[in-house]
Amino acid sequence: MSFVKFCTDNKIPFKKDEMMCNHTSFKIGGKADYFVECQSFDCLKAVISAAKSCGLDYFILGKGSNLLVSDKGIRGVVISLCGLDDISVTGESITVGAGMSLAKLCTVAFENSLTGLEFAYGIPGSVGGALYMNAGAYGGEMSQAVISATVLDKNSEIKEVPLESMKLSYRTSIFKTNGDIILSVKFLLKKGEKTEIKAKMDDFMSRRKDKQPLEYSSAGSTFKRPEGYFAGALIEKNGFKGVSVGGAMVSQKHAGFVINYNNATASDVLALMEKIKTTVLENDGVILEPEVIFVGEE
Ligand SMILES: Cc1cc2nc3c(=O)[nH]c(=O)nc-3n(C[C@H](O)[C@H](O)[C@H](O)COP(=O)(O)OP(=O)(O)OC[C@H]3O[C@@H](n4cnc5c(N)ncnc54)[C@H](O)[C@@H]3O)c2cc1C
Repeated sequence: MSFVKFCTDNKIPFKKDEMMCNHTSFKIGGKADYFVECQSFDCLKAVISAAKSCGLDYFILGKGSNLLVSDKGIRGVVISLCGLDDISVTGESITVGAGMSLAKLCTVAFENSLTGLEFAYGIPGSVGGALYMNAGAYGGEMSQAVISATVLDKNSEIKEVPLESMKLSYRTSIFKTNGDIILSVKFLLKKGEKTEIKAKMDDFMSRRKDKQPLEYSSAGSTFKRPEGYFAGALIEKNGFKGVSVGGAMVSQKHAGFVINYNNATASDVLALMEKIKTTVLENDGVILEPEVIFVGEE
C-alpha cells in the first residue's frame, strides 16, 4: 500500500512536499516528501508502521527550534508531535505531552505555584525536543526537573523510562541514539511562592531579550559550549560578528548565534559554520561542535 493510500484510507491528514522553512525557527529548509501531524499515540504508531512498510524514513519534529533543515528537504515522512499536548497536574508533579511548548508548561507550573522550571521559560522548544536535547539555561536543565518519560520504542512498544536511564548530560540524551520517541514527560517540582516564580521567569526572559538576537530567525546557539570556553566569546574574538555568507550572518548582538539575516539557505549557514570552525581551530586550537542539528538530504 502507498503511504498516500494509507493516510487517505485512515483519514489521517497529510501534506505532500511541505516546505520545512514553515516549521523551523531558522525559517530555512526545503520540502519534506510527506508531513503528518499526529494528535494521538495511536496515530503516531500507525503512521510509523505505514512509513516502515512503505520503505520510507521518518523524522520526529518538535517545534523545529534546534534544526537546520537541508535546502533539498527531507526524504520520507516528517511527523510533527505538536498535537500531543495534554497536561495534568497532581500535587507537585506535572505530566505533559511531548508536543506542548515549554512556555506553556512553565506557565502552568507558575499558575500552580510550582517552582523548578523557570529556567526553561523562553526556550522556544517543545517538551519532547527539550528532553531529547536536555535543554538548559541560567544554571537549570531538564535533568533537574524530569523524573520519567513515556516513549514509543523501536519495536513500537510504549514504555516508561526513568530519569536514570536517560543519560542526560550537556545537550544530549540517550534518545539521540536509541530512536525512542518521547510521548510524554513527568516532572517533579516543588511548591514555591508565585511572586518569586514570576520574578525569575521575567528576569530570565528579559536577559534573553537583552542579549539574544530574538528579532531574527535562528536556531539558538549555533555551537555547543566547548569545555573551558564560551563559543560566542571565541567567535567574537576571531572577528566574526557581522560576518555573513549569503543571507546567513553571525549576529552583531551575540556571536554565539548565526541568524537568518536575509533569506539564508542551509548551504549559507553551513558554509559560515565551516568558516568559523576552521578559524577557531587554527587560532585557538578549540574544536567547535554544532549544537544545531542538521537534517535532511545532503
Ligand atoms: C532564540 C532561541 C533560543 C534558544 N535558547 C536555548 C536555550 O537557552 N537553551 C537550550 O538548551 N536551547 C535553546 N534553544 C534551542 C532549542 O529551542 C532547544 O534545543 C529545544 O529544546 C528544541 O526543541 P524543539 O521542540 O524545537 O525540537 P526540534 O528542533 O524540533 O528537534 C530537535 C531534535 O529533537 C528531536 N525530537 C523532538 N521532539 C522529539 C520527541 N518527542 N521524541 C524524540 N525526539 C524528538 C528531533 O527529532 C530533533 O532531532 C534556543 C533556540 C532558539 C531559536
